[in-house]
Amino acid sequence: MASTIRPRLFITQQMPSQFIHALERVFELDYQDTPTPLSPEQILFRIRAHPPDAILFTSKIKIDKELLSVVGDKLKMLATFSVGYDHIDVKECQKRGIPIGYTPGVLTDATADLAMALLLATARRITQAVRANGEWGTSCDVMWMCGKPLTNATVGIVGLGLIGLAIARRLQPFSIQRALYSGTREKYFDSNADKTFFKYVPFTELLGESDFVIIACELNEHTKNMFNKNAFEQMKNDAILINIARGGIIDQDALYDALTNGFIGAAGLDVTVPEPLPKEHRLLTLENCTIFPHIGSADVSARHQMAQICVDNLFNFFSGKPMVHQLKLGDA
Ligand code: NAP
Repeated sequence: MASTIRPRLFITQQMPSQFIHALERVFELDYQDTPTPLSPEQILFRIRAHPPDAILFTSKIKIDKELLSVVGDKLKMLATFSVGYDHIDVKECQKRGIPIGYTPGVLTDATADLAMALLLATARRITQAVRANGEWGTSCDVMWMCGKPLTNATVGIVGLGLIGLAIARRLQPFSIQRALYSGTREKYFDSNADKTFFKYVPFTELLGESDFVIIACELNEHTKNMFNKNAFEQMKNDAILINIARGGIIDQDALYDALTNGFIGAAGLDVTVPEPLPKEHRLLTLENCTIFPHIGSADVSARHQMAQICVDNLFNFFSGKPMVHQLKLGDA
């Protein structure tokens, strides 16, 4: 490091100790070393008291205009422990010239694995089935606890990015018939098998044709609430909706109505608004809605790689080198 004064780094949540030890050799740490999440007020208090040169944070922390103006010119860079960046006011960072490091790629497999777990759990009513232990001998209906098959299904993927494609690859051995996808542009595939298997379609066609709809796109001004009453009315009545992207892509009131009025069959959500959902939230009362506590990237290897990229982004930036992964602000 060029300067003898160590830059101050605010770390808003607990991380494995080896990463903290690496960071404390270079930075003056303000480390939130307890499992309790900081409230927005506590964060503002901390940065007001000790303005940091950099902040290392997760997607649970909102980096908005107010926070950026409180921390002021001292802030040199942001390191988010995520691939999504909808929790950051990217335009305000751009205006202030604050670069953002993020962690794309290394959580793709973990999140795609979790999407499969959620999809199968929702389609085969796993939560209900686990709860039915001890009762199942009481039904003599051969159709008891029947779910929806993947074989020969049409699967629609909204956002065929890294995670969307990794989910599609995992679905192929389940003998699905085809994968429709929507997004901002058609993808190029090398193999003829892929050219037949994947079809780029308008969003409305994807809704009408798919037995399973998987949301894997980023949350932005175009995708916010794109799953609204109108969208649910266009879906098949037994369609299953899976969301591993961001809760804000679904209008949750419209989802509740769609699930209770039979516009769609079931939903599996890894992400909601807010997170966590309050215990009394009405979506949690529905048997045809499976909700996971935002654990998409929660495998040990993915989280360690994300932490390492954050550390490298911070080290590189404060040594005057390019970050490993820097968000292209102009594209946001
Ligand atoms: P990515 O490779 O950048 O893919 C983003 C996708 O969003 C692209 O396919 C893009 O489509 C699509 N998109 C952008 N605008 C769209 C629009 N208007 N309509 C439809 N699709 C649109 O990112 P990724 O690594 O796959 O991650 C995707 C998202 O998953 C992240 O943004 C994050 O929010 C979420 N995520 C969640 C978890 C979790 O724990 N549950 C973990 C990791 C990531 P085009 O390619 O056609 O432009």
